[in-house]
Amino acid sequence: MPVSVDEKCLRLTGDDGTSGTLLGMRCTECGIVVFGPATFCQSCSSPALEEIELATGGVLYSYTIVRVPPPGWPGPVPYVLGEVELPEGPHVLAEVIECTHDALQVGMPMTLALQPVSMPDVPGSERVVYKWRPAM
Ligand SMILES: [Zn+2]
Repeated sequence: MPVSVDEKCLRLTGDDGTSGTLLGMRCTECGIVVFGPATFCQSCSSPALEEIELATGGVLYSYTIVRVPPPGWPGPVPYVLGEVELPEGPHVLAEVIECTHDALQVGMPMTLALQPVSMPDVPGSERVVYKWRPAM
């Protein structure tokens, strides 16, 4: 069975690790939605948060080309780190795949892409991670 890189941010919905949903928390007091776990609302400090499933796509808000990856980065370098704005409001940072650097445009529609990734020397280390790719 595939394992999510972070159960509080990504819920897998299939058995093959290619489908899933990003999770967020919505404040029942003011309606603000954040990506991932939270204890208090960032806007009004209310503890009345409920978990919601976020949209699987959004628009590219910003991006950067990363030439010096974090330690243990398993993918190619340089890579594109994209910030995607979801319709619910939160911004989600993840690698952008299947897009040449020239084709990147702020405002372009992006869709969630799930990929299993593992550390080369660590058996059983495979985790499903979320990335962005241009929406077709
Ligand atoms: Zn709030």
